[in-house]
Amino acid sequence: MSDKETVTTEVKESRNFIEQIIDKDLAEGVYDTVNTRFPPEPNGYLHIGHAKSILLNYGLSQKYGGKFNLRFDDTNPTKEKTEFVESIKADVKWLGAEWEDRLLFASDYFGQMYEAAVKLIKKGKAYVSDLTAEQIREYRGSLTEPGKEDPSATRSIEENLQLFEDMKSGKFADGEKVLRARIDMASPNINMRDPVIYRVAHMSHHNTGDEWCIYPMYDFAHPIEDAIEGITHSICTLEFEDHRPLYDWVVRELEYPHPPKQIEFAKLYLTNVVTGKRYIKKLVEDGIVDGWDDPRLVSIAALRRRGFTPESIKLFVDLCGISKSQSSVDYAMLEYCIREDLKGKAPRMMAVLDPVKLIIDNYPEGQTEYVTAVNNPDNEALGSRQVPFGKELYIEREDFMEEPPKKYFRMFPGNEVRLMNAYFVTCTGCVKDENGKITEVHCTYDPETRGGNSNDGRKVKGTIHWVSAAHAVKAEVRLYENIIDEEKGVYNEDGSLNLNPNSLTVMRECCLEPAFAGAKAYDSFQFVRQGFFCVDSKDTTEDKPVFNRIVSLKSSYVLPK
Ligand code: ATP
Ligand code: MG
Repeated sequence: MSDKETVTTEVKESRNFIEQIIDKDLAEGVYDTVNTRFPPEPNGYLHIGHAKSILLNYGLSQKYGGKFNLRFDDTNPTKEKTEFVESIKADVKWLGAEWEDRLLFASDYFGQMYEAAVKLIKKGKAYVSDLTAEQIREYRGSLTEPGKEDPSATRSIEENLQLFEDMKSGKFADGEKVLRARIDMASPNINMRDPVIYRVAHMSHHNTGDEWCIYPMYDFAHPIEDAIEGITHSICTLEFEDHRPLYDWVVRELEYPHPPKQIEFAKLYLTNVVTGKRYIKKLVEDGIVDGWDDPRLVSIAALRRRGFTPESIKLFVDLCGISKSQSSVDYAMLEYCIREDLKGKAPRMMAVLDPVKLIIDNYPEGQTEYVTAVNNPDNEALGSRQVPFGKELYIEREDFMEEPPKKYFRMFPGNEVRLMNAYFVTCTGCVKDENGKITEVHCTYDPETRGGNSNDGRKVKGTIHWVSAAHAVKAEVRLYENIIDEEKGVYNEDGSLNLNPNSLTVMRECCLEPAFAGAKAYDSFQFVRQGFFCVDSKDTTEDKPVFNRIVSLKSSYVLPK
């Protein structure tokens, strides 16, 4: 590629506001590289919103040739667990974001954070306070009233150093003392009114065990972590905008040579979809869902299990764009993305979810022949396969009606339809059990229509998929709807979730064509007329595969311009 071509492609590409800030920083020499991080707190599973943050941060580091760190923000031992650390690593990796050897933990810097706090005390910029949490809240004032000076603020540097060391060595109970930054009790920004930066908590930490009984607060710890790691652009979500002056204060007062810059963007929300950890945790605990990876959830683990691909999530995040204003995206857009990704990748095969037997009365008993089926009409490279056909087949129960309404073009007595890739058949009737349930549908076939086309120009309006009864692979198939009853909104008046009682439908007697044998966890297929499905990684057994419907085929969704 010539230099000229490089220039034109760069000009054409539109830059989001974060890239514009970075471009300016690089042009003005503020930074000479772009290092980013994804800083999850290991207190739950990641969800689709986190995927946006991961792909944004990783994408920027790649685009500008910098580094990407995975750093656990594990400064609050109460809610953090190793289980979450492992799940987060798996999710970030699955999305394709590579941290190389930079798997980092905020807790690894506890020593440096302690030293940083001592440095502030020595500069007269921090003091140990005797106020209780409640008093601190009272003294803090409000949006309209300034705060009041903390009576402990007059302590000498020596006294503060001694008390802080006593905090560290376990001389105080939880809540008895805190370390506060000395900034400005009258600041219009409440975050700047002498924020607490260290607290006493006699608690074991998942990484450092009982080494520490004091822990740094997030607003103090986060800028230090960024600065230690040489992060240039510390990208976070909008709720931290008001904390930015404190972030800058910490970096400045600690005199880090390469101060990182915080930039905020709007969180990703999905309309009528639950992402809050608190709610998901309750659904898990109440047994309403089958764990954090239940395919009805939008945790990354759940999306993966349902059959979403990293490519589909990337496409989704790209389409959402990066913005400063809060908005909510339709779940249908996520569905659009997975259809786009799978349509040329997943083989299209026949599966009958709610089977009823179809018997071809004039077909030779015991005969099997093979018909050719194209594996993916959108991708010739996937080739074709041979599908067994015989006298007894399964078709969808809903593809036969004894007394059809108008415009029903499938099977009913006297009607001719196409069995996909096979023959034209004419329905002759059905057999019922003593309860009136249809147990068999009967038809005759026209041997002249092999391949599913007549040679006399005869047309049929309906095409039906089928599976040879003698060769069928039995499977369980799970169909999903939103776990929320969208008509009623997400929450009830008491704050509980408005659950959709029909969010899961289990089809236990499904019949699949034999080409499905050997399908492995996470393999995806298009089931003719039914949608895209993925082999469930949790409940599939040797004897019985379980499939999750990722998404149905059709949608009225139109991509926004
Ligand atoms: P939640 O409350 O939804 O569980 P969180 O903010 O508590 O999320 P963290 O582990 O603190 O979860 O988040 C890690 C990173 O992911 C942060 O930088 C945060 O800003 C970002 N993030 C969290 N939720 C979203 C979202 N919905 N959209 C984009 N980024 C998000
Ligand atoms: Mg958080």
